Amino acid sequence: METQLEPGLYIVAGPIGNLGDLTPRAAEILRRADVIAVEDTRVSARLLRHAGSDRPMLPYHDHSAEGVRARLVERMASESVALLSDAGTPLISDPGYKLVRDARAAGRRITTLPGPSAAIAALTLSGLPTDRFLFMGFLPAKAKARADTLAEVAALRATLIFYESGPRLSDSLAAMAEGLGDREAAVSREISKTFEETATGTLTDLSARYADAPPKGEIVVIVGPPGEVPPASAEDADAALLEAMERLPVSKAAGEVAKKFGLDRRGLYARAMELKA
Ligand code: SAM
Repeated sequence: METQLEPGLYIVAGPIGNLGDLTPRAAEILRRADVIAVEDTRVSARLLRHAGSDRPMLPYHDHSAEGVRARLVERMASESVALLSDAGTPLISDPGYKLVRDARAAGRRITTLPGPSAAIAALTLSGLPTDRFLFMGFLPAKAKARADTLAEVAALRATLIFYESGPRLSDSLAAMAEGLGDREAAVSREISKTFEETATGTLTDLSARYADAPPKGEIVVIVGPPGEVPPASAEDADAALLEAMERLPVSKAAGEVAKKFGLDRRGLYARAMELKA
C-alpha cells in the first residue's frame, strides 16, 4: 500500500467501458484509499485489478440501511473512503448522493476525481446544441408515467439526455416523438468500446430503425431542442403592421413588428408604405 491519504470522501469516476479511460489520479486514489464503497464488488474488482489496487471494498447503495451510510460517514473522520460506481461518474444515475449529503452535513472533507460520464460523452457525439441541456436519466417504464415525464419538459428550449436500454429503445423513441414532437436526435451505444456507434435522424426515423432489431449494449439518447417558431405568415405580419401603424409612425411600427416576428425591418417598412397607400 502507498502512503495514507487525508481522511474524507473521494468521489472517483471510473471508465464507461474502456479501462484505458481511468485517469492516473483516480487509479492512485483507488490504490491508496482505506476503503472503497462500490455498487457491485465483482464489477469493481476488475477495475481495481487494472489499477493495481488491493484495497478492501464495501457494498454501498443509497438505499442501503441507514446504518451502513452512517458508519461510512463516521469512518471518513479518520480514514479515506473512495466512492466508485460500476461505470462512469458516481451519483449520475448511480448511488452516492445521500452519502455526499451526509458527509457534507457531518463536515467531512469531500473531493472528486472527475472522469467519464456516458451522458456528456453522448452529448459531444450528437452534433446537437450543447449550450443548454437537461439530463433526464432513465424514463419510467410505464407508458402513462413516461408520457407525463415527457410532457413536463416538452416546452423546454434545451437538448435532452436520456439513458436507455436496447429492448425499450424503439418504444421510447416513438413515445418521445409523440410527447416532444418529431425532433432531431442521436442514439449512441457502446461508447468507448469496440462496437461504439452513433446513429442520427428524427425520432420517428430512429424508432423505425430499431423496431425490428433492438440494439445490444448500453445506450444514450440525445434529443435536440424544439424547432424555431415557424416564421410569421404574410397575413400575420400585415395584421401586426396595420395594428402598430394605428399607434406609431410607419418606421417605428415596422421596427416593432420586425422585432416581434424576427423579420427584416426594411422589407417591413416597404410593406407598411404599400399598406398605407
Ligand atoms: N454513472 C454512469 C455515467 O456516469 O454515465 C451511468 C450509470 S447508469 C446506471 C448506466 C447507463 O449509462 C446505461 O444503461 C447507459 O444508458 C449509460 N451508459 C453507460 N455506459 C455507456 C456506454 N459505454 N455507452 C453508452 N451508454 C452508456
